[in-house]
Amino acid sequence: MSSNHTVSFRTKSGTELERVVFSFAVAFSDSDVRDRPLREGRGFSVELPAVLDLLDAVAAGQEKATDVRSMLLDAVDKIYDSASCYEYETHEDKLAWCKRDGGCRTCERSRRRFARHLETMAERWRRWTLHDEFPFAVGNSKGLHTVGCSVVRRHMPDGFITHEPGDEEALRAFAHADDDHDLTFAESGWASGDIPFRLMSAEETRAWMAENTGPKGGRHYKRCRVCAPTP
Ligand SMILES: [Zn+2]
Ligand SMILES: [Zn+2]
Repeated sequence: MSSNHTVSFRTKSGTELERVVFSFAVAFSDSDVRDRPLREGRGFSVELPAVLDLLDAVAAGQEKATDVRSMLLDAVDKIYDSASCYEYETHEDKLAWCKRDGGCRTCERSRRRFARHLETMAERWRRWTLHDEFPFAVGNSKGLHTVGCSVVRRHMPDGFITHEPGDEEALRAFAHADDDHDLTFAESGWASGDIPFRLMSAEETRAWMAENTGPKGGRHYKRCRVCAPTP
């Protein structure tokens, strides 16, 4: 979303500019020549009268062009967070910076969800080892199966690798895959530890079927034709 930001300047040489308006995400040039990182000005616009006054100060010898330039970039730095610039960065850049810095805000935002995800997967795997107790399986697109169904067996992993919630590399793979919707967990390196089916007892399955049945009896789930589950 575009936004306006007001910044007041006082340069080294004493030029003062009050309440200069910067905009972000109003104008993105399609010129490749001027393409550059957001931190170096991409996506930012500056109120023209302020730019003209700065040029006048340079022309009159009151300011050095290099000082004016760095002052404008300092303003970009100040505005970066309030303009939510980070959200506009590419997934590749975010991932590269995260590796370089040993963490990032994408990872921090996902930390709690990651811990919950690990618990959920560990519980799914525990239940998968108890076929008699939990004989039904439901996939991510709400297909209901028996645990013996070939569809389920094809998608279930052979083993389960669990991670600690504090495992930063696993968190990174999880968080950044989720951040980039084009990237699957597997592609991001988050391959292990994902259990694609939720395992349920007969009683839980009946309750789940009732929850997923509309008032007129319409089903909001799919009953597998291969294994035809009857909980
Ligand atoms: Zn990260
Ligand atoms: Zn099935």
